[in-house]
Amino acid sequence: VDSAKLQGSGPLDSPELDLLITGGDVFTLDPQFTVVRGGSVGISEGKIAGIWSRDDMPQGTACEVLDVTGSAVLPGIVNAHTHIAGCVFRGVLEDYSGSGLYDVAFPFEQRLAREDIALLARLGIAEVLRGGCTTINDIYYYPDILASVIEETGMRAILANKVFDAELPLIAAGKYERNLDAGRQRLSDNAGLIEKWNGRAGGRITCRVGAHATDTCSRSLLKEAGQLAEQSGVGLHIHVAQSSVEVDYTVNAYGRSPVHLLGDLELLGPSTVVVHCTWVDDDDITLLATSDTHYVCCPVIYPRRGYFPPLQKIVSKGIITGFGTDWIRMDPWDGMRQAVNAVRMLTRDPRAISAQDVLSRSTREAAKTLGLDKEIGSLQVGKKADVIVVNLQQSHIQPFYGAAAGLVYTVGSGDISTVVVDGVIIVREGRCLTVDLEGTLREVARRVPGYAGAMFSKGPPIPATNG
Ligand SMILES: [Zn+2]
Repeated sequence: VDSAKLQGSGPLDSPELDLLITGGDVFTLDPQFTVVRGGSVGISEGKIAGIWSRDDMPQGTACEVLDVTGSAVLPGIVNAHTHIAGCVFRGVLEDYSGSGLYDVAFPFEQRLAREDIALLARLGIAEVLRGGCTTINDIYYYPDILASVIEETGMRAILANKVFDAELPLIAAGKYERNLDAGRQRLSDNAGLIEKWNGRAGGRITCRVGAHATDTCSRSLLKEAGQLAEQSGVGLHIHVAQSSVEVDYTVNAYGRSPVHLLGDLELLGPSTVVVHCTWVDDDDITLLATSDTHYVCCPVIYPRRGYFPPLQKIVSKGIITGFGTDWIRMDPWDGMRQAVNAVRMLTRDPRAISAQDVLSRSTREAAKTLGLDKEIGSLQVGKKADVIVVNLQQSHIQPFYGAAAGLVYTVGSGDISTVVVDGVIIVREGRCLTVDLEGTLREVARRVPGYAGAMFSKGPPIPATNG
């Protein structure tokens, strides 16, 4: 829907703005998918004060005017599932012949030191910002470190600890041994995270309880995680049916699928975000729908593993669904394209999914999945000013005819020129102002030999420096 004039879209007399982004095609991602050609987005006190077409620009003043003629202006991408520091595995797990998750990642990542997480978090944040993500929903080790990095980089994040009580390195050998004390400690750390960080950094940081998965947490730990989430008034963030190993475990141990196990424990509902659901059946999907549980799909990672969750079935049941990138390579645009490719191949129907669908699932619908749709996910007056500008003047994007398809099939990380969070510019002319990228890259290079040496060997330590 093109709209020459947005009725009632903002104050029309003498606004005083902090920032005016003007001249671009504004993809509002509102429910009508309104696009304003050559429009302007006015920002005041961290919020969107108005969206105007060229003809109804009000008189007024702005502290800063960004002329983005020839660009597209969108709401920031809401990346609904990440492990930011998991970028450490780039180029290592993708072609690994075994289970990269169980054989390599689980034993290795537990041995990363706090300094490693801080370094990798900066690297990953720089990456997702260049991809246009303004919000991440992360679950990983040392979330308090990521919280500090989020605070200093100006991003928005929902953070959770990785809570589990299985001895992760043993799962690759088919063994589930529990360390209940360690599980309770991790849950207690998550409670500490909520107490210290929920609502901090001007509200940019909120928290969830991160129960890792239905097999890596015992039933009692899952139950306690649910209780903590309820007491704290935050939601649950959990991987569900992410592997056949996980499904086999819950079926053998409890006679229930992962989804039904969560149903038994009364952990399903709108404040619970379930991720992956790769190995679910129709019965599971029905339970997710009837319980109004929210779902995150990470299309970028599945095809290269040779499978894809039943996304179209899940969506057709009315389950609120947003996209995330998970880890390793966190380019949301790549994920949108993978979703289109996979769904069309599985259904053999090119009409089964569109560019508009996947762009919505990466913005407005992702925000809804996280319960944040009143605040972020679209460019609408009164919402928080999380805005990105896509530079369209590039050989791989032109000619641009103005449709969502012209963005989804061409744009990638690095094409984002400007990122605004809470009305503050944190990426300008493609440079992330809040991360010392050169210094971060130097330090990463210094640590690569240590990571490489430790990746396929068991036991501590990971050398912090090498050469
Ligand atoms: Zn994950």
